[in-house]
Order: sequence, then structure tokens, then C-alpha cells
Amino acid sequence: MERKKLLLLHPSEYEHEFDRKALKNLEGNQGLEKFMKKIYKHSIERINRISHSGSFLKITSKNFPEIYELLEEGCANIHLKEIPDLYVKREDSINAFTTGVKNPLILLHTATIDHLTPDELLYIIGHEVGHIKSGHMLYHDMAQYIKFAGEIVGEATLGIGSLISRGLEYPLLHWARMSEFTCDRAGLLTCQDLDVAMDVEMKMAGVPNKYCDKVDNKEFIKQAKEFEGYDHDSLDKVAKTYLIMEQTHPWSVMRASELLKWYETGRYDEIVDKHGKDSIEELEISCTNCGRMLKGTESFCGVCGTKVGNR
Ligand SMILES: [Zn+2]
Ligand SMILES: [Zn+2]
Repeated sequence: MERKKLLLLHPSEYEHEFDRKALKNLEGNQGLEKFMKKIYKHSIERINRISHSGSFLKITSKNFPEIYELLEEGCANIHLKEIPDLYVKREDSINAFTTGVKNPLILLHTATIDHLTPDELLYIIGHEVGHIKSGHMLYHDMAQYIKFAGEIVGEATLGIGSLISRGLEYPLLHWARMSEFTCDRAGLLTCQDLDVAMDVEMKMAGVPNKYCDKVDNKEFIKQAKEFEGYDHDSLDKVAKTYLIMEQTHPWSVMRASELLKWYETGRYDEIVDKHGKDSIEELEISCTNCGRMLKGTESFCGVCGTKVGNR
């Protein structure tokens, strides 16, 4: 299938409303800035990068050209100019992970490569590229660090009251979960095939390895659609906390359900039509802030000064 490069795609065009809401709530949290300062003081981002680049296999255009090409295509398809580093880690679950703010790196589990087709791998890569494109990495990493913040530097050294860290943990992890919905959309915009996206969510939900090369997603889609009445906002805090703290499974059925709902609004097709042109000159784009029509070649909107495009 011919896939389109979605020129000048802006992440606000596919951001999930739960993501936006959770982010607003998180940014109002008083412990956030304090915690970030501590993290930076202890150079945790640098340590984190060293630990990844010193432990896992780096994928380049030389050693695994087919995989690297998917990364390049993924970045091109949703318009991320700087190609992040890609690593692979021996791990039995189908999943991937991105870390790092200044120099983000994507980490694929070996099972992801073993049990997904190239198109499916592109969906996963697009999801991870989406986190970088949306600028998720800062809070995303905070959500990782907060779980073992005490262990890394010791509660006393970190000097962050456990009350603050506890009060911050929920909004941070909640937002991190909600950001997955946005990035599944990025994955779909990258691989440009809903069936492929559903196959991947299904495999992540638990298709046994020996069935991975012959999945049929019809029943899974039915299961996902049964979730459509689900309203996250109506859940009470205890229920939400339970869902968020349950970290081990990736919530694939719910994610598939959210992605299907979005696809059915027609928004996906609209975005592909709007951005899938051969050159920037052919795009009909408007400022995401004030709505003014733009040529596409400018860096900032001439009316309100908003930055045009994203990286
Ligand atoms: Zn993600
Ligand atoms: Zn404007």
C-alpha cells in the first residue's frame, strides 16, 4: 500500500481530549516543578540515556536496514524532522518505549520485531514517534522516574516530601496513560491502515506467539466496540487509580476502542487528505491558533505569531 507523507502535520490535530484534560490537571499540580528540578539536579536524564545506550543494541541503517527504514518512514509520514535513535532490548512482550527529552531514543522489545509484520512495526514506531512529536517526553519520563524516585537517590537526598510525590504520582501516571490515546492516533496516521493498527493492539492484548502470524481481528474489534459506552470521566477516583496503577498490561482493548471511535468520526481521513500532498505548496493549511490561511512555508503565523508545523 502506498503511504502518504503527512506534510506539516501538527500534533494538536490528533490530540485526544482525555490527554489534553489530563495534561491541564497535571500542570496545575504544585509538586510537578519541584520534582522536575530534583530530577535535573541529579542528572537523571543523562544517567537514563547512558544506561539505555550502554545496555541495548542500537539499530542503524547498516546493521538492520529494514528496521531502520521503517523508522525513517515513520518520521517522514507524520513529519518529525529529527530522527531519534533506535534500540532493541531482549524482552518477551510486544511493546516499545521512548525516553529522553533532548535526545529521545526509542526502544523496541525483541518480541515486537519477532511477532509483528513490517506494517505493524510501523504502527508501533509511529506511536513512539508520536510521543516525541507531541512533546510528551518531559512528563513521560517524569512518570517513569516517580515510580522509583525514592530508590534512585533516596527519599532524603531527593528531598521531596512523600506527600508531594504521592500527590503528583496519580496525575502524572494518569496523564501518561491518556497520552497513549493520542499516540495510537499518531501510529495510525503513520501506518495508514486501521486493520494493521487493530492487529497490533490485539497482539499486545495477548495473542499467543504461535498464533501471531495468523490473527483475525474481527472478534477483537467486536470486543473493543463493546467498550464504546465507557466513560472515563464518570469513574470515581478509586477506580481510576486502580486502572492507572495496574501498569503491566497496556490497556489494549480500551485503546483499540478509542482509536476506532476516532476513526469513525472521519477525522483520520480528513487529516490524510489535508496533509498527504506531494509538496508543501499544495497544502491548504491554516494557523492552529487564529485560523488564518498559510502558505505552509512560513515558520510563524504572520497574524498571531504561532509557530507553524512541528519540528
Ligand atoms: Zn506510548
Ligand atoms: Zn495565527
